[in-house]
Amino acid sequence: MERETSLQTLYIDFDAFFATVEKQLDPTLVGKPVGVTAMDSEYSALIAQCYIAKTMGCSRQMRVKEAREACPDIIFRPARHDVYVDMHHRIIATVEKTLSVKKVWSIDEVECDLNGFTEAQCLEVAQKIKADLARDIGTEISPSIGLAANQLLAKIGAEMEKPQSFVVLHPRDFPGKLVSVPLKNVPGIAGGNIVRLRRAGINTMPDLLAISAKHARAIWGNVEGERLWAQLQGYRIERPETKRSMFGHSRNLSGEWQRPDKALECLRLLTTKAARRVRADGFWAQKLTVSLKDEHKRKYRVERQFPPTRDDFAFQREMSAAFRELIARNSQRRLRSIYVMLHGLCQQGAVNDDLFTSAASHEARQKRETVCDLMDKVNSQYGAAYLNIGPQPDIPGGYVGGKIAFGRVPTKEDFATLPPHPQRSRATNMSQKI
Ligand SMILES: [Mg+2]
Repeated sequence: MERETSLQTLYIDFDAFFATVEKQLDPTLVGKPVGVTAMDSEYSALIAQCYIAKTMGCSRQMRVKEAREACPDIIFRPARHDVYVDMHHRIIATVEKTLSVKKVWSIDEVECDLNGFTEAQCLEVAQKIKADLARDIGTEISPSIGLAANQLLAKIGAEMEKPQSFVVLHPRDFPGKLVSVPLKNVPGIAGGNIVRLRRAGINTMPDLLAISAKHARAIWGNVEGERLWAQLQGYRIERPETKRSMFGHSRNLSGEWQRPDKALECLRLLTTKAARRVRADGFWAQKLTVSLKDEHKRKYRVERQFPPTRDDFAFQREMSAAFRELIARNSQRRLRSIYVMLHGLCQQGAVNDDLFTSAASHEARQKRETVCDLMDKVNSQYGAAYLNIGPQPDIPGGYVGGKIAFGRVPTKEDFATLPPHPQRSRATNMSQKI
């Protein structure tokens, strides 16, 4: 392993992304404090705020009421996840006019490879991307850009002078500006690690850079400490691809949706979305977990195990059984949030029919799988959930299964909505006949 001697990575992290997309699309918001909320409700919380609102003291997770106290002129917009995903794809297309995107880290963070470029070329491509984004996407949605020897350092650079960072951490200048970065701002150093570092007498970046790789591993208690240390030193680390282990969707509930019967309807939709993703990625699942949070914020969960499955019918049956067990056991009257997770994933080769499965049940399972594959195909072809099992209620806040979570950008199909009513009833009848 050798230290890089030149710039290898360009990292782009957009500033206050959701809020700036809203500003870009609605010129009346420009120059004003804007907060994006999870739902269109006075009881919702901020999931993003523009820099003007930030300066006034607004922060993520703040309730609408608190945000208004901090910043009386704030304008709220409910999150439009599909619009942000569209913008994400337009941004990728614009960046790729100059450099191909090596990895999408989240809806507003991407990494590009600079291998083979001279230093002057690196700066030139970075400036070109910035200019292209301003021209093609708009000037409200501003990028922060970092250039460095590896992804971690480039990301730190992009964060360093936000908004509109343009920071080059050249290996030649090591450690340079890096020394002033507080440890808590380093991605991968969270609460627990900060405590362990402090116990080891490491309070600043220079302290951390001065220890050995072995010492870093010992503090973390695993190889992650050594990896992070090596990246801070300017080594390039290629991480093994993480293996997917689950597909899950959650939902905060409000109003009548907190009733168990309505929560079950919502869980049914979340389970359908998770099952579609299991199939789309070529998996079978052998476990399903349902968890709930009640009105007193107590959490409950039930996990069920079954032979490898990929059809909606089986997942819905397991989900209903898990949910009824939770309700029977704890008799909650109102639920704050629900979560369903499909896990215990395996791929086709690993699926063997149980020796005791009868030919009839094997055939029935195959039929159910064929129906689900057909529904996925039709739904993805027509860009809408034409075929569903059972009714599809409108859930407040929308975007069931299409919320933007850290590290996952939803696909177009995640936003599939129902076609107009006449087609909807015909489609539902079709699925019932099947
Ligand atoms: Mg960002």
